[in-house]
Amino acid sequence: MSWPGFKPELVLLDADGVLWTGEHSIDGAREFLHLLSRSGIQRALISNNSVYLHEHYLARCERMGYDLKPHELFSAGLVSAAYLEHHHGSGRILLHMSAEIAGYIEERIPGAVSIDNWLDSLGLADNHIHVQIVDALKADPFDALLVGIDRLGSYRKIGVASAALSAGAKFYCCNADYGFPTEAGTWLPDSGGIADMLARLTGVQPEILGKPSVHLLDEIEAATGVQRERMLIIGDRLETDMAMASQHGLPGILVLTGVATVDDAIRLAELEGNLIAVQDLRAAGELLGL
Ligand SMILES: [Mg+2]
Repeated sequence: MSWPGFKPELVLLDADGVLWTGEHSIDGAREFLHLLSRSGIQRALISNNSVYLHEHYLARCERMGYDLKPHELFSAGLVSAAYLEHHHGSGRILLHMSAEIAGYIEERIPGAVSIDNWLDSLGLADNHIHVQIVDALKADPFDALLVGIDRLGSYRKIGVASAALSAGAKFYCCNADYGFPTEAGTWLPDSGGIADMLARLTGVQPEILGKPSVHLLDEIEAATGVQRERMLIIGDRLETDMAMASQHGLPGILVLTGVATVDDAIRLAELEGNLIAVQDLRAAGELLGL
C-alpha cells in the first residue's frame, strides 16, 4: 500500500485541531466529511477527551454543520467504557472521573462506581479517615481503577485511588495526555497527569485505553466491522495521532491546522510507517482523490 493509491474504508479523524479549535470549526472540515460520505468512506471521530458523552459531541457537530452520528463517535472516555464493559463487565470497577462519564459507566456496568458514590455508600463521604478507606478496600477490593479527568478531583479522591491500586486493582487510564491547554493560556491536568501521580505514588503503571493504544483500534474494529488495515488516521499531534498510526501500521496524515508545527511535519519522517503531512483537510481530500 502506498500513496496515493490507497483507498481507506474508514477514516479516523481527530477532533481538536482537525475538525475544530475550541468553539470554532476549521475551514474545509465540513466539506471533507461530506466528500468522505459521498465517496462511500466511513468516518469516525477519535478524541482523547475523557469527560464528554455523545450528546456533547452531537451538539457541537450540529453547531458546526457536521453530520456525524452517535455510532461515529469514539472518545477516550466512551471507548474506555466500552473496553471495561467487554473485559470487566462483571467486575468491580472504581471510577476516578467526572460525574457525567462516571454515571454513563455506572449505568452500563453493575459493579462500577465513582469514588464519590463509593464513599457515600460506606458513610465515609463526609469525613477523611484514610485508614477506614484502606480497610474497606482491603476487605472488598476493586478489580480495576479507571482514571480520567475528574473536574471535582480532590486530595481525598487521589488517596482513595492510590489505596485501591495498593489493594490490587488493575490500573487503567483513559488517555496518556499529561495536560491540556486552556483558552486562558494556562494548562490543566489531563488523565495522564493524574495517572502519572498515582503511578509515582504506587509504582503501578497504567494501561492506556485511548490514543495511541491498540485498545482503541480494537474497539473501533469491533464497533464498525472494518479491519485496521483498511483505516486511515488524520490528526494534528505526533505523540498521539501519528504515534497510533505508526505503532499499529495504519497510514496517517498530519494536518497543520492544530498544534503541529512545520518542525513537527519534518519530524514526522522520524516515525516509522506510511505517514505524510499536509496543510489541511482540503489537501488531505486531494491526496485521497476525493
Ligand atoms: Mg488534536
